[in-house]
Amino acid sequence: MLETNVRVRFAPSPTGGLHLGGVRTVLYNYLFAKKHGGKFIVRIEDTDQTRFVEGAEQYIFDCLKWCGMEPDESPLHEGMYGPYRQSERKASYRNYAEQLIENGFAYYAFDTPEELEQMRNTLKTEENPSPQYDGNVRMNMKNSLSLPADEVTRLLKENTRHVIRIKMPANETISFTDMIHGEVSFESSLVDDKVLLKADGMPTYHLAVVVDDYLMKITHAFRGEEWLSSAPVHILLWKYLFGLDQMPQWAHLPLILGPSGKLSKRDGAKYGFPVFAMNWTDGKTNELTEGFKEKGFLPEAFINLLAVLGWNDGSEQELFSMDELIEKFSIERVHKGGAKFDFEKAKWYNQEWIKKLPATVYKSRVKEIFEAKDLFINDDAHFTKVLDLVKDRCTLLPDFYDQASYFFKAPSQWDTDAVKPKWNESKTDFFNEFCSQLEKIESWKLENIEISFKELAAEKNIKPGELQLPMRIMLVGGKFGPAVFEIAAMIGKTETIQRIKKALSIFNA
Ligand code: GLU
Repeated sequence: MLETNVRVRFAPSPTGGLHLGGVRTVLYNYLFAKKHGGKFIVRIEDTDQTRFVEGAEQYIFDCLKWCGMEPDESPLHEGMYGPYRQSERKASYRNYAEQLIENGFAYYAFDTPEELEQMRNTLKTEENPSPQYDGNVRMNMKNSLSLPADEVTRLLKENTRHVIRIKMPANETISFTDMIHGEVSFESSLVDDKVLLKADGMPTYHLAVVVDDYLMKITHAFRGEEWLSSAPVHILLWKYLFGLDQMPQWAHLPLILGPSGKLSKRDGAKYGFPVFAMNWTDGKTNELTEGFKEKGFLPEAFINLLAVLGWNDGSEQELFSMDELIEKFSIERVHKGGAKFDFEKAKWYNQEWIKKLPATVYKSRVKEIFEAKDLFINDDAHFTKVLDLVKDRCTLLPDFYDQASYFFKAPSQWDTDAVKPKWNESKTDFFNEFCSQLEKIESWKLENIEISFKELAAEKNIKPGELQLPMRIMLVGGKFGPAVFEIAAMIGKTETIQRIKKALSIFNA
């Protein structure tokens, strides 16, 4: 196959927030497509009307946009193989299901929900708590294999509610080569006769995924490992409908593990970390699940930490930009075993990316955080300078507020406990005099402020080290921030003097 023909797809069902694992599936698809000069497609798998959730589709696209992974073809940007929502393709599936019946690979099933329930109750044993509709039971049920042909014709004519099921063959070994797991085999008799077309005429996932991967000329299908058990059904459908030589190459991606087994939404709430890409509010319960974006992650960091959750390039390198990932990614290097998510490590990635990128990249997001706390910024260039000055101290974007807000507003609280034990009159004198010296500085620069400070300290015979902590607390309120003269230089002469005077009145109160 020509590399330029590569077409991969992310096929989400719009049922809720986009989980870490989902974004990683997108990422591996995206990287593979870009690496091979192919196309990345998003197809919305919305055939299960009972699970439809308002807003979930738009949310998925918002997340992809935030992550910088825009699809080449999708419902928002159609290519030649539309529509890209399965519900809009409904009419195309029935023919395939009927073709399967004609060729003896599927059958009509007329069983009512009560009859199915009864079958399960009758066959239920301790060893087999949930009996399946399979080769062992199908001849005792109400379907086009067990009923006489004229009865089937009558039922269909009368529009009796029915589904179409695949007829799983007996004793066949179904195998395929997974790009990550290698040779994988299944015994056909262990798999149930899955429904392919539902009573409402909608296909199930199993039929739709195969038909659409074929019609959309998908060359590689990467999806979560939870779908591996469905693979035998899909392989048979490929064989029966289109031929195995047409089948995409598959890769089933390892699970993402949380502190206690498979990572779940509940883990997020329990351990206090996000599991969704962006904030998601459940329309029914109004419950808000926090996203990585809103927690203060940069998309660059989020992508980086997801890429290495289950993949490495064989070296010690940990930080990868999207371009580097595109260059280095290979699906064969994805691990077979589950990948453990570690929130502390995730934060480390974010911290590294905050340091690595110029503040101009994330300035607008930090600005929003400031504005949400009623701190409005007028001078953008100054804001960028401040952010670059403090960025090494920030792990998550909201940390910028703690680390930088005092550049824009005077502190309203002071850590007096840190000052008081060593505070005395001579220090008050020093700072009063220092204010007068500061007034005289014409060129307000770090060096000049520092010289003035040190000269006066020497004159007064006080160790500068003993004065720097009080000065820091005067300027920022606490024991944090970059070099104290740097802060003074940044906030300006008038503001520095005002803050020193204000704090003196507090310390001496
Ligand atoms: N619609 C499936 C899901 O929601 C897609 C699985 C696949 O990629 O084949 O995960």
